[in-house]
Amino acid sequence: MDLGFQDRTVVVTGGSSGIGLAAVRLLLAEGARVAFCARGAERLRAVSDDLTREFGADRVLSQAVDVLDASAVDGFAATVADTFGPVQALLTNAGQGRVSTFADTSDDDWRAELDLKYFSQINPIRAFKPALISSGQGAIVATNSLLAYQPEPHMVCTSSARAGIQSLLKSLSVELAPDIRVNSIVLGLVDSNQWQRRFDAREDPSQTRDDWYGALARRKSIPLGRLGRAEEAARALLFLASPAASYITGAHLEISGGLSRHV
Ligand code: NDP
Repeated sequence: MDLGFQDRTVVVTGGSSGIGLAAVRLLLAEGARVAFCARGAERLRAVSDDLTREFGADRVLSQAVDVLDASAVDGFAATVADTFGPVQALLTNAGQGRVSTFADTSDDDWRAELDLKYFSQINPIRAFKPALISSGQGAIVATNSLLAYQPEPHMVCTSSARAGIQSLLKSLSVELAPDIRVNSIVLGLVDSNQWQRRFDAREDPSQTRDDWYGALARRKSIPLGRLGRAEEAARALLFLASPAASYITGAHLEISGGLSRHV
């Protein structure tokens, strides 16, 4: 199936690692122009240099931006408009989860988590809305978590914030229609830098990567028996962002290896 990204412009937040980077690579392979951001300038530059060598400088644009800094995101949107013009799709993917129970989450932790989850959506969506509308077929796809529908007590504030994001996206799918479609993917456990960091901090340093990840999948009772790969999540992002999903808005697609327990 041709996803129709040839010569289209797509913006990816959190594009220097994990799922975002996998999406950037797939989009470039599909012929898109891709603008992506992340906070860490060094890793961003290294990734960008690799991609430029592989796909050409005229199709790759990267900028060090913290998505929580509204004026920096506005500056990024201005650079993208100057360089590439209208934007067909925005993937709001930047972020991370917070592991903490109600008992060990302070008020400041709650505020920081709500700030991250909400403004990592609000700032880019506000900044790129005009460019998405002017493309005539704009699409937003948010990376979210199954925790929105299946909360976990050990990730209490992340779960709560993620449910709120699904509500926000549903409202936006109505307010921004018919100009911009708004959808999300909800993830189970996907192998990325986040899980690599937890593996690096494992209790038993003699445990191999395969053993640690295998034990994690068994502990979580993932029906498909393993964590997802970043590219498997990215493929779902691309589908929802593409003209192939032209009649889909206000929806979410679960990529979890069957982890959800609800019908
Ligand atoms: P990674 O840590 O591999 O990638 C996260 C990316 O986001 C990096 O490029 C990081 O770069 C960037 N980023 C983080 N915070 C900001 C910020 N404030 N501003 C700009 N860029 C930022 O993790 P994943 O690929 O797993 O994460 C992608 C998304 O998927 C996240 O929103 C995460 O919460 C979500 N998710 C992942 C799950 C999983 O199992 N992997 C499960 C559920 C949801 P830098 O640090 O340099 O800014």
